[in-house]
Amino acid sequence: MFLDGQWVQAVSGDVFSVTNPATGEVIGEMPDGGAADTTAAIAAASAAFGSWSTTTAYERSAILYKAWQLMVERSEDLANLMTLEQGKPLKASRFEVSYAADFLQWFAEEAKRVTGEWLPSARANQRFLSIKQPVGVVGAITPWNYPISMLTRKMGPALAAGCTMVLKPAEATPLCAKAVFDVFVDAGIPAGVINMVTTSTPAPVGEVLTSDPRVAKLTFTGSTAVGKMLAGAAAANLQRVSVELGGHAPFIVYPDADPVHAAKGAAALKFLNSGQACISPNRLYVHRSVAEPFIETLTARVAKVKAGSGFDDGVGVGPLVNDAAVAKVANQVDDARAKGAEVPVGGERLETGDYANGHFYAPTLITGVTTDMLISHEETFGPVAPVMVYDEVDEVIELANATNYGLAAYVYTRDISTAFKAFEALRFGIIGINDVNPTSAAAPFGGMGDSGLGREGGHEGIDEYLETKLGGFAI
Ligand code: NAD
Repeated sequence: MFLDGQWVQAVSGDVFSVTNPATGEVIGEMPDGGAADTTAAIAAASAAFGSWSTTTAYERSAILYKAWQLMVERSEDLANLMTLEQGKPLKASRFEVSYAADFLQWFAEEAKRVTGEWLPSARANQRFLSIKQPVGVVGAITPWNYPISMLTRKMGPALAAGCTMVLKPAEATPLCAKAVFDVFVDAGIPAGVINMVTTSTPAPVGEVLTSDPRVAKLTFTGSTAVGKMLAGAAAANLQRVSVELGGHAPFIVYPDADPVHAAKGAAALKFLNSGQACISPNRLYVHRSVAEPFIETLTARVAKVKAGSGFDDGVGVGPLVNDAAVAKVANQVDDARAKGAEVPVGGERLETGDYANGHFYAPTLITGVTTDMLISHEETFGPVAPVMVYDEVDEVIELANATNYGLAAYVYTRDISTAFKAFEALRFGIIGINDVNPTSAAAPFGGMGDSGLGREGGHEGIDEYLETKLGGFAI
């Protein structure tokens, strides 16, 4: 763990093992921290806040730029580590490291754009000035599915704003978190500014982060259930909260869309990170008039996706994170089958040969999906593309919006008017119009409803770590 500028063991001396999800092999071990370690980390972050928050934006920016450069220089090693620990294909790991580095560069730039305002007063002898200041110590909890970029998406803006931090990375991917911290240490981050508690048992760490009065803000990315629980605990202490949670993205193909192009987009998007992405499409609504060519193209594409170790050439889908994830996917597919869906591709666990010791599920296509099936409303987080054919164009937005989640939605149309109407009417934070990658460090990422609160990235990203202070000056 990393406390006050030092790599240390847990107070208890306990450690936990980290495994490769493709092979089950142990690839490392990390200190198994708990409440006492978290309190010590908060103390370090709190002590460092005074000096870090009063550095100039230019000084903080310089460290973030250096970290960006180091991450780019180390990208091949970081990508290899990510594939080993998280399982995604090496090409996808390289892409994630590049995306992660973008946040460091972007917030190195944004650090220098935190400004105030000179406001008008109705009184001739009064002046108003508002300024932005860092909120204080930030508690950050991150998931395993994007084990490097989810860290930089929080650390970049928090550090740029002048906050200090305590990070708790996911138990499945602490080695990637350690590598990110190495980057910051080598970039010259002062002792105490960033601290990390690793653990195999997150609840006690979460309890301390949400109850210690020295923590001003909680930022969390993970499941809706845990996010709601932590946000509730944080609310009891009036901590500021941003939570990026689950999703159930609709993917709408309008009758005027090019169905082959749309099917290629769906195949490319659905199997990213083995479907373990919060913006992964979970309901493909295809108009009946274009359903045949869409399903034909998608069937051919899904049949070509190869599952395996992320280090093997030609592999498009790596392992899932654990057995529970495979069981959840299998349960949804079995439920759909039992309720009348067809499964033209995949639909089974991969458990023999090279797959024997990993957590694999076959790339799968399901057609004839109906609203009574689990998969039509429960997040899958696995490599399954469920297709629902619709008839009424006027009703598809309502179908798409019929979820408590509100993170991402996708639309395929060649009609500009349909595109604008869908963009405005879909109740989601991110809309891809003929676009399967509507994400960037420069753009706000986040959801509505059960998908969370707040935005990361873009101009909005740094606001989550700033307080507004008003000065009224009688002259
Ligand atoms: P999870 O909520 O179990 O775990 C996420 C993090 O929370 C991990 O670090 C974990 O250790 C920690 N955690 C779990 N229980 C905790 C507790 N009681 N107290 C404190 N911390 C606790 O989720 P997961 O299954 O590992 O991750 C996948 C989920 O994350 C999916 O639902 C996905 O949609 C969501 N996700 C959302 C985004 C986004 O930006 N919106 C990005 C990635 C993942």
